[in-house]
Amino acid sequence: MRDFNLAIIGLGGMGNWHRELVNEGGWFGGKLEGGGIEHFKVIGSFDIKNERQIFAKEHGLHPYNSMEELLADPKVDLVLVSTPNDLHKPLVIKVLEAGKNVVSEKPVTLSSGDFQQMIDASVKAKKIFTVHQNRRWDEDFLTVKKIYDEKLLGEIFRIESRVHGSRGIPGDWRGSPEHGGGMVLDWGVHILDQALQMIPGKVKKVYATFTHITNELVEDGFSAELTFENGLVYLAEVGTNNFINLPRWYVLGRDGTAVVEDFSVNGKMVRITDWNKNDAVPIKTAAGLTKTMAPRTKDTIKEEPLPAVKSDIRDFYRNVLAAIEGREKLKVSLESVMRNMKLMEAIFRSVKTGKPEQFE
Ligand code: NAD
Repeated sequence: MRDFNLAIIGLGGMGNWHRELVNEGGWFGGKLEGGGIEHFKVIGSFDIKNERQIFAKEHGLHPYNSMEELLADPKVDLVLVSTPNDLHKPLVIKVLEAGKNVVSEKPVTLSSGDFQQMIDASVKAKKIFTVHQNRRWDEDFLTVKKIYDEKLLGEIFRIESRVHGSRGIPGDWRGSPEHGGGMVLDWGVHILDQALQMIPGKVKKVYATFTHITNELVEDGFSAELTFENGLVYLAEVGTNNFINLPRWYVLGRDGTAVVEDFSVNGKMVRITDWNKNDAVPIKTAAGLTKTMAPRTKDTIKEEPLPAVKSDIRDFYRNVLAAIEGREKLKVSLESVMRNMKLMEAIFRSVKTGKPEQFE
């Protein structure tokens, strides 16, 4: 395998995350085993902010004076666009027209129509174009996917996927519609993509509501309920005004329940061991009696740890490089990103009409 060079347009918080990962294997302030990505290096960047140009230099990157200069450098094999969301489309198209391969940060752009123009540009340029849907490599997601795929709780009938914070929507470009702000495009793009990656078959129906607690212009939270053709209901929820977080995942199967508390995959599964054993002893509740809601005794259920799933986010770029060399298909296909984009559009339509939207 030959060596590849990456240049970054937009060296903000996330652009720098890519620099650290690629060059150093940087991860949560520490380092991944094995360090940076083999045969791959970030060599330079361009940012409109002078302070980020200085930062680039201080961290061993060549600060290009303009995007044109970056695109004219024959050493650059691949470009990452990591600017505010509204700029992904024009910049990605420019990169492709300059004959370079390109990765766009998520969300790829603001509408399916705009995305189609980007796809057309990549077809014309015959260059690799993909999107950094990095949360397909999240271990919490892969754990739930394993529970689903291997029917560890029997047939799954409901999944709740939540991301909660209490800092409101960030005060930067994420708070303004013209820059593609709002929590659907910011976090929804990840957790909805995960739903589409996990559950096979069509999404028949989508119903969504937004919150505007700290921002009137864009949604600072949302709740979207997807009904898949196999009957599974998938709740995707983002909140930025939640001072107590609900668990990251709540998974209900016919034979048990799983809770994944957080991104570090703390949690457990509880499974039925004997459906026939009738252990229900009525319990007294505040002002009544219930058998239905009586907790189970230990002899009909078993508590188990979550299955362990390991992943390596460096595989995202390893796959992009293999795709450039024609050895592998892209793991984040443009078709899958388009489907997610259309799902987000259905969510906006549902909020507008106040009704469920038929989707696929
Ligand atoms: P940021 O504001 O920290 O950085 C954006 C940078 O782009 C800034 O330094 C800005 O000066 C620069 N910029 C703006 N216009 C430019 C232009 N025309 N040319 C060159 N540089 C320009 O934002 P961020 O948090 O780094 O987000 C950047 C992108 O990454 C967004 O699309 C965001 O959605 C995405 N993101 C992805 C993840 C993920 O996990 N995949 C996480 C955070 C952010």
